[in-house]
Amino acid sequence: MTDAVTFRGVSRHFGSVKAVDEVDLAIQDGEFFAMLGPSGSGKTTCLRLIAGFEQPTAGHIEIFGERADGVPPYLRNVNTVFQNYALFPHMNVRENVAFSLRVKGMGRAERHRAAEEALELVELAGYGNRRAGELSGGQRQRVALARALVNKPRVVLLDEPLGALDLKLREQMQEELRSLQRSLGLTFVFVTHDQDEALSMADRVAVFADGKIQQIGTSEDIYRRPCSRFVADFVGSSNVIPADLVGAGAAGKWASLRPEDIVLDPAGQEVKVTGRFFHGRVTKLSLDFAGQNLTALVPAHADAPDVGETALIGWDPSRVHIMEEDT
Ligand code: ATP
Repeated sequence: MTDAVTFRGVSRHFGSVKAVDEVDLAIQDGEFFAMLGPSGSGKTTCLRLIAGFEQPTAGHIEIFGERADGVPPYLRNVNTVFQNYALFPHMNVRENVAFSLRVKGMGRAERHRAAEEALELVELAGYGNRRAGELSGGQRQRVALARALVNKPRVVLLDEPLGALDLKLREQMQEELRSLQRSLGLTFVFVTHDQDEALSMADRVAVFADGKIQQIGTSEDIYRRPCSRFVADFVGSSNVIPADLVGAGAAGKWASLRPEDIVLDPAGQEVKVTGRFFHGRVTKLSLDFAGQNLTALVPAHADAPDVGETALIGWDPSRVHIMEEDT
């Protein structure tokens, strides 16, 4: 099967800034692909390269197997949903959604029909006559999505599309986006710096740092088998400790052990509790384990010891992940 988007040795440098640095990447057709990384790691530049708003300074991009060099954005079969939505506030919703069709010269009746169809997809049927400026944040987000879908692209690029929404709405939109992507069978490339969002939504995740991809894999791969200390720390919080301390042998290597994989175990090892924080569902414990700081998350109903007391802890050895490198 042809990949939807392929990066072949792609770099985009701005003077001495290596925004994207020798990236190789294949995004499959129909995949929900997340680009995750800290601010400035090159995610948005990757998206802009796919969209055609930026050109590589080295390497090239293919879209459905065809080189995209010099192909202008509107001929790329991809559409972008921007973080700020970029709606025209004085136009009504239907005109906003149909705008690009008007630019392409499509007739009024036909483009209005297409706009209504796209609005139905995002569950805004009947909102066509409202002014964009009168909508709530969540509704604006849907209009922005409808505006991308109206062109029937095969790839939808989403740059932090939920960043402006409050947590409840954000979680609801995550589910809706995911099910829309599935039902339409489109390729979604989604940029976020929110690791929960990336892990919960994506089929596969690429973790970026300094313009390079640190790791690509399924959410479970990235979370359970991080390739480096950077990935282990960025994707969730992790205890990174000398491997021999957790009985995993491999002297000189490092182990990552997720806080939720540490359990209170009467037959376990003795540690000192240095912090205890109630979080509702869980209690977070800071522990001193042979001079190493560990974080553990235990169920809130567990009878967790208090600061200054001793705790007995254990873990399932299969949850200990040895990292090949410590970059
Ligand atoms: P964020 O999450 O903050 O949006 P990002 O991971 O998307 O960050 P990019 O926006 O791709 O990161 O930026 C990567 C690097 O390239 C940054 O150091 C940024 O300052 C730089 N950069 C991006 N666009 C330009 C530009 N047009 N001119 C100069 N430098 C740029």
